Amino acid sequence: MRPEILYDLFKPITALKGVGPRIGALIERRTGPRLVHLLWHLPSGLVDRRHAPKISNAIAGTVATITVRVDKHHKPPNKRVPYKVLCSDETGTLNLVFFHAHEDYLRKNLPEGETRVVSGQIETFGDAIQMSHPDHMVEEVDIASIMTVEPLYPLTTGLTMRVLTRAISNSLKEVPVLPEWADATYVAKQKWPSWRDAVLAAHAPQALTDLEPSAIARCRLAYDELLSNQIALAIIRKHMRQVKGRPLRGTGALVQRVIKTLPFNLTNGQKAAIDEIREDLCSDVRMLRLLQGDVGSGKTLVALMAMLTAVEAGAQAVLMAPTEILARQHLATITPLAKAAGLQIAILTGRERGKNRTSALDALVKGRAQIAVGTHALFQDEVKYKNLALAVIDEQHRFGVHQRLSLAAKGNAVDTLVMTATPIPRTLMLTAYGDMDTSRLKEKPAGRKPVDTRVLPLERLEQIVDACGRALDAGDKVFWVCPLIEESETLDVAAAEDRQAVLTSRFGDQVGLVHGRMKGAEKDKIMAAFVDGNVNILVATTVIEVGVDVPAATVMVIEHAERFGLAQLHQLRGRIGRGNKLATCLLMYGSPLTETARSRLSIMRETDDGFIIAEKDLELRGAGELLGTRQSGMPELRLADLQTHADLLAAARDDAALLLNKDPDLTSERGQAVRTLLYLFERDAAVRNLRSG
Ligand code: ADP
Ligand code: MG
Repeated sequence: MRPEILYDLFKPITALKGVGPRIGALIERRTGPRLVHLLWHLPSGLVDRRHAPKISNAIAGTVATITVRVDKHHKPPNKRVPYKVLCSDETGTLNLVFFHAHEDYLRKNLPEGETRVVSGQIETFGDAIQMSHPDHMVEEVDIASIMTVEPLYPLTTGLTMRVLTRAISNSLKEVPVLPEWADATYVAKQKWPSWRDAVLAAHAPQALTDLEPSAIARCRLAYDELLSNQIALAIIRKHMRQVKGRPLRGTGALVQRVIKTLPFNLTNGQKAAIDEIREDLCSDVRMLRLLQGDVGSGKTLVALMAMLTAVEAGAQAVLMAPTEILARQHLATITPLAKAAGLQIAILTGRERGKNRTSALDALVKGRAQIAVGTHALFQDEVKYKNLALAVIDEQHRFGVHQRLSLAAKGNAVDTLVMTATPIPRTLMLTAYGDMDTSRLKEKPAGRKPVDTRVLPLERLEQIVDACGRALDAGDKVFWVCPLIEESETLDVAAAEDRQAVLTSRFGDQVGLVHGRMKGAEKDKIMAAFVDGNVNILVATTVIEVGVDVPAATVMVIEHAERFGLAQLHQLRGRIGRGNKLATCLLMYGSPLTETARSRLSIMRETDDGFIIAEKDLELRGAGELLGTRQSGMPELRLADLQTHADLLAAARDDAALLLNKDPDLTSERGQAVRTLLYLFERDAAVRNLRSG
């Protein structure tokens, strides 16, 4: 249960004065639904109002706070001319200028003959000095309240700075003093303020340097976030390991039989990974291993060998993919090999219904099927296994940690192998998975040729269509990827349909379309026709659907490539160039292209190394987007910046390990404080894994 001391911070933002449902919804879209989320919304700029010159010393283009006498209101003859209030001090005159003015309001706030303090940007208009729409107009006694440095926050359409600033400043009033959770010596060494002081300071920047990620208050907050992340991951990991694993000793018989049927040799990386996994399986500590390998590096085969080892030891294994199409693709790859070994495989996705589903469920619970391949349907409640011992999860970052745990709960001490094609940089790897064992497939199978990558504006569509025509004439196949349009599946489907129509008018029924809204069976039919039928151009809306293996595909067209992550582009590109012909990847961008987008796309042209690409992507885009955390429920970092705060991450990891070593159930005084930290950063699930409350 969340500690009482945090209750106020977890109130909905609509509990704040002046925040009703409409404003609340706007703020929520930018920050999140609760007060605590406002705290994480740090200023991106500031306005210094401490400069209080006389009128004649005010400099155009700067912000000034000036004490003036209100001389005369000057109502304009018509609406096109602004309302003016003439003011002065002993050095000169200042005109306050208002467009679409409300006279009553202005007369009330700026009564003729009285003294007022105004603050805003100084402008010149001809010879006159003026200020249009002052940000503040107060009486002289209140001058101190506006002669400050004001934070400026990132906004969203419809949300004004005034409203957001007030909401944040009201939420700051609710910030409690919390017990120190960080290591006291470390805090002292870093000269860090307490958490509360850090929050308040981060929202009260006094100079531009206070806005940098390296500012002391921001470092402290970043550290707290990273510490909560590292402790949460360590707890979950430990929890998984607490349940003793069971040694799975394979005989090697099935593995050898399958290797003999392969028309190629395993790469050294594959051999090493298979050995590492076999060693994990043998031990009585539960395996939690990440198999990292670029697209096409041959992970599926490694996964199969792991599963065969489990089967040799008399157990069952599952392979879970993020989408149905990928699940079926895995099935297609594995089935002939498994058949050679005399095994039965069950498939289970959202689409298996009725008789098919019943018989798959039966085969798994009775143990007739040794291997199951499928989607998240594999870990629904009704699915029971006779003897599940190994779960292989493909493209894990699309699943959440919770799902991984629920799959692990299906069997008795299930070992887990996670496969990912995103070569996750070390820092990101730590925040996403914690300290996980890794096997890496560095080399690609022999005979792969680099893909010729070109970057072109969308205006050259016609040329690209011509290029596709040439590929088709040569008997090749073409992937055509349309981007996901954010938050609108309808629009993105429409865009893909338009594209299909254009291509069909030229190439006829060789053009097929798959998109996220289609029924599974329909998708399968088209995919099958693309793999070895008469569909030669496949238009697809989602990258996920394109994760399939089609050796005849030599061209990959990606529309609005600038909207994709580099890792995604790399993964897509990895889908072609698997045959012996030279392959071409055409990255089409919408103009104008931003500087960042331009450099991202040129990285794609320059390198084929997934690891370099991932590092660059992290540099240019940030962690959340790289891992697609928003869809997956993976913790998103709001305060820490993995580039600037890499050293803090290392410290947080070490501290987390040390702390949990000394106080595994977080019962000491510091342990209790850490629990509060975990709740503060909404890592509730981790706390639930602790032994005592
Ligand atoms: P990944 O899942 O890592 O993207 P896959 O496991 O799908 O890669 O393998 C891609 C292709 O390479 C498959 O067609 C597979 O049969 C083939 N392959 C796997 N290992 C080797 C190897 N050692 N030599 C040649 N081809 C291989
Ligand atoms: Mg694969």
